Amino acid sequence: MAALEPAIDDLEHLGAQELIAEAAARYPRLAVACSFQKEASAILDMVVRAAPAARVFTLDTGALFPETRDAWRTLEEHYDIAIEGVRGEQLDRQWERDPDRCCELRKVRPLRETLAGADAWIAGLRREQSPERADTPKLDWDRKHELWKLNPLADWTEADVWRYIAANDVPYHQLHDRGYASIGCWPCTQPGDGREGRWNGLDKVECGIHVA
Ligand code: SF4
Repeated sequence: MAALEPAIDDLEHLGAQELIAEAAARYPRLAVACSFQKEASAILDMVVRAAPAARVFTLDTGALFPETRDAWRTLEEHYDIAIEGVRGEQLDRQWERDPDRCCELRKVRPLRETLAGADAWIAGLRREQSPERADTPKLDWDRKHELWKLNPLADWTEADVWRYIAANDVPYHQLHDRGYASIGCWPCTQPGDGREGRWNGLDKVECGIHVA
């Protein structure tokens, strides 16, 4: 960690776009993780204005919904940007045999490799999403990846996200209109509120990329 890094909570008072602008000013090698969920749409809309030099990427797990690929293309065209797809090892239907290992190979490792060249990264976590995310700070030192992590929407409600999307005419994932509040890989995602549709029926609530 550099000697003059900020205190963990020194950006808590900033709004989402101000936070992104501050991140762009502080961290020249800023990476933005894009899941194509509603939070990612809102963040991308702010990133193109406040941090246009940031590297935007998605974890292309090879198990994305067709609608996720539609959202990928639509957002690229809408903002005239390229969203980089990063892929890890993809063993055939591994989610059936060992979902934790599947997430490790398709998400956790490629994320680690992608962030190795960054100073900071932006994610779309919100405190309201689950008990595991209730303490999410806007700025935190990511010990696992050894860089700064920013969650510009940490204090936003779901209604805040939808208000932003409507007010700014932001494209968003079609599955949100079909009962999916949270959207991951197709084998592990069902419709549902909050994150209840993720790994439904399994004792698993996170893929590991946001676990310290
Ligand atoms: S969410 Fe499911 S399909 Fe996607 S990487 Fe994890 S276990 Fe595999």
